[in-house]
Amino acid sequence: KLENATAKAELGRASWRLFHTMMARFPETPTAEESLALKTYIQLFARLYPCGDCASHFQKLLKKYPPQTSGRNAAAGWACFVHNEVNKRLKKEQFDCNKIGDFYDCGCGDEGAKKAG
Ligand code: FAD
Repeated sequence: KLENATAKAELGRASWRLFHTMMARFPETPTAEESLALKTYIQLFARLYPCGDCASHFQKLLKKYPPQTSGRNAAAGWACFVHNEVNKRLKKEQFDCNKIGDFYDCGCGDEGAKKAG
């Protein structure tokens, strides 16, 4: 089947949105089990990402820059960094990771209520 760049980009935007929003909602001080859950999720996300070419590039990135899941700030900062590495390869602008704080809002309206895991 022919490549469809529009669909590929749309999938990318939706995926990054979920990815970063998940980091923004990750506990500030997770349990060891929560940290392992996020690490496992990220590895499986990289393995199962529907665009195979993207997935294999991303898996290489994860080898070079292992997921940081010790807490929300580390995870969000790490995710911003690896997304910027993808941006670099695709010749896109760098995102200012200092602005990641309030950028990803899940819209849930229950800040602090959700328990991961
Ligand atoms: P996107 O990169 O989709 O970003 C969406 C929005 O997120 C931006 O508008 C900005 O507001 C914000 N943002 C940008 N950078 C950051 C950051 N560093 N941290 C936080 N927020 C940020 N496409 C390919 O063609 N080839 C690939 O190999 C490829 N690999 C991919 C691998 C993965 C794991 C994912 C999730 C996507 C991949 N994509 C790939 C898709 C690509 O990254 C883009 O999603 C797509 O090209 C649309 O780009 P965009 O300019 O709309 O912005």
